[in-house]
Amino acid sequence: MKPYDPMFASSPGTGLAFPASYWAATAGPVPADDGPAPPAVETDVAVIGGGYTGLSTAYHLARRYGREVTVLEANRPGWGCSGRNGGFARMAFGRLSFSDMIARFGRDEARRLFGRTMASLDTVRELIREGAIDCDATDAGHLKVAPKASRASALQEEAKLMQRELEYPAEYIDAATLQRDHLGGTQSHGALRIPDALAVHPLKLSLGVLRMARAAGATVHASSPVTGWRKEGATHVLTTPQGSVRAREVVIGTNGYTPPGLYPELNATLFPILSHIIVTRPMTDAEIAGSNFVTGHVLTDARKLMYYWRRLPDRRILFGGRGLIADTPWRNANHRDNLLRELIAKYPALAGISIDYDWHGWVCFTRDFLPRIRRAADDPSVHYGVGYQGSGVSLSLYAGRLLAAQIAGDGDQPPIEAAGRPVERFPAHRLLRIPQRVMFHWYRFLDSRG
Ligand SMILES: Cc1cc2nc3c(=O)[nH]c(=O)nc-3n(C[C@H](O)[C@H](O)[C@H](O)COP(=O)(O)OP(=O)(O)OC[C@H]3O[C@@H](n4cnc5c(N)ncnc54)[C@H](O)[C@@H]3O)c2cc1C
Repeated sequence: MKPYDPMFASSPGTGLAFPASYWAATAGPVPADDGPAPPAVETDVAVIGGGYTGLSTAYHLARRYGREVTVLEANRPGWGCSGRNGGFARMAFGRLSFSDMIARFGRDEARRLFGRTMASLDTVRELIREGAIDCDATDAGHLKVAPKASRASALQEEAKLMQRELEYPAEYIDAATLQRDHLGGTQSHGALRIPDALAVHPLKLSLGVLRMARAAGATVHASSPVTGWRKEGATHVLTTPQGSVRAREVVIGTNGYTPPGLYPELNATLFPILSHIIVTRPMTDAEIAGSNFVTGHVLTDARKLMYYWRRLPDRRILFGGRGLIADTPWRNANHRDNLLRELIAKYPALAGISIDYDWHGWVCFTRDFLPRIRRAADDPSVHYGVGYQGSGVSLSLYAGRLLAAQIAGDGDQPPIEAAGRPVERFPAHRLLRIPQRVMFHWYRFLDSRG
């Protein structure tokens, strides 16, 4: 059987179980959904995809604007990235660092954009509060760690720039302080500290928003992939295995799992990339002492092929990274071992640690590395939120809020200008896995240098 690759597969599956992740093992009881869509559905707004984007759109539409909304999820709500990510809710806009934002958009626009990344994190906080979502959220902040001494000065500059240009209390933590107060190991050469970032249990968060959306009046159908889409006059007719859904407006929230041809404007515009996670067994007292892994911050490192990791509430370590092209069992097993090797290279005191869980998912890139949260160019009744570049926990939940406001015509929640440009097509899209391979080799080379 061919490995699943969202660039080519006509569907992400139907009614599939959650992957065997640490999150699925610890999420507790899964709340009810509305089961498969019945043969004939009429709705005001149909939302395709039951992740953070889709569920947040549904919640905000139903709760704040009293709209009738129906979510169609191919598998089960939270099955995609939203139930399997690292749980780092950060202030992020695509792949741009804050200095990139200033270089790309100029100081004033970068400041506005930075405000929106803050608003996205506030949306996460609000949703957790409004829904009393028990998702093990902690609010310790984010450390971007220099894995080599030579990378520390750039982080120091980034902290100064954020203080000066964005008036934001980022700080640089020197190597000695980092090793004493946060984490030891061989690759802790200083860090940029961004005080605003949450760590969450991502599946509990998805299921919490599912509960909120349904309580607000939205209908959420599982096992209901949209397999066809046509228009009859002003009405959208979406085909599901059971029948059809007729809607006045449609929201696309399928991100990295978007099947080719779902909506022509998105054809050849999205580039799904694999991201893998391992979760270790709980650390022993000796391992914690040996690595001084005491920090509650979410962690990333200053590399092209970045690793992301954090200590979980039960003393395990979650460690993730990209680098794989194809989703095959042999490659996945190999990559899992590589991740463990990288973790131990950072913290030799963990040499005896083993992996209890590993899984992976597809993050979504665009050609200019920027997300799109907008109305379709060719049809004002179609809306989409896609392309979070692997940093979508906070932005996708915020996107749902913005898309709902866009549909309801609520001027108090204006769209993000930088996410509103038309989405560009990749040339030779079907061949992108070839340059991706070359690019990953190049990134590994750059990361290996001094
Ligand atoms: C391993 C991994 C780690 C990550 N870690 C982080 C992190 O720590 N921090 C961070 O900010 N971001 C992280 N991300 C990215 C983040 O999880 C995503 O940006 C975010 O969850 C996107 O949410 P979404 O709702 O747009 O898409 P998804 O949650 O992926 O949902 C899309 C849904 O659409 C459904 N679908 C697809 N086609 C159809 C169809 N035709 N009909 C009906 N349904 C359909 C799919 O079944 C899927 O459930 C990570 C991603 C991965 C894979």
